[in-house]
Amino acid sequence: MLHIGCHLSASKGFEAMGRTALEIGADTFQFFTRNPRGSQAKEIDPQDAQALRRLLQEHHFAPLIAHAPYTLNPASADPKTRDFARQTLADDLARMEHLPGNLYNFHPGSHVGQGAEEGIRLIVQTLNDILTPAQHTTVLLETMAGKGSEIGRSFEELKRILDGVKENDKMGVCLDTCHVHDAGYSLAALDDTLALFDKQIGLSRLKAVHLNDSLNPQGAHKDRHALIGKGHIGTELLAGVINHPALKHLPFCLETPNDLPGYAKEIALLRGLYQP
Ligand code: FE
Ligand code: FE
Ligand code: ZN
Repeated sequence: MLHIGCHLSASKGFEAMGRTALEIGADTFQFFTRNPRGSQAKEIDPQDAQALRRLLQEHHFAPLIAHAPYTLNPASADPKTRDFARQTLADDLARMEHLPGNLYNFHPGSHVGQGAEEGIRLIVQTLNDILTPAQHTTVLLETMAGKGSEIGRSFEELKRILDGVKENDKMGVCLDTCHVHDAGYSLAALDDTLALFDKQIGLSRLKAVHLNDSLNPQGAHKDRHALIGKGHIGTELLAGVINHPALKHLPFCLETPNDLPGYAKEIALLRGLYQP
């Protein structure tokens, strides 16, 4: 069975997201742990979290993806910015213990001029400060488009981060189809791209896929998501992604520019293209 969902607003609470997911035919979803630009997180309501856990179990959901605010930068040269990233990530992971067994995805960061080497060192340091053997969440590095000085534009960079982390079994990767396409990898030659991923990172590290089309051609380093079939990747190659033997068991999450009816349509479309 295809595990698919989309990004949902967390504003009405946890259980409400689960109900919305069911309404649009999803069996996974993604949400921001707090305002995507950073800042204050809402207090977690343990009863609401429990209600969602019950609903997920009852309806056999695949793992959910919590997404960190995308403004965090653990690779910053500024110690205050790094400190804020470390505290926010640690706080999010503590909150995620209300929803054990799920995924927490973050953008590795941008080195803003000091070089990828130093950026990677700082990201590793942050992860080593916050990950604990007792946590029940797998932390995912997202593959990035390579906009500006983004780290994670190549599989090698992600591998170097993973190699530095002590709590290695708490780490994985989320592959974003728009981002890898924009980073220059080919989805037309998906077998080759995944063989490279396997060689450089290991396919067992891949825990989730962000399924997006891209407004820009391969290698553009832009990161502008498009509706499924309305971009440079196209429906056929994205159908190849959900049906690839190395990927088809993973949770897929749409981050296309959509409202809920639009997401429902894309989910139905992709379910129709899935070969069980
Ligand atoms: Fe992301
Ligand atoms: Fe993404
Ligand atoms: Zn993106």
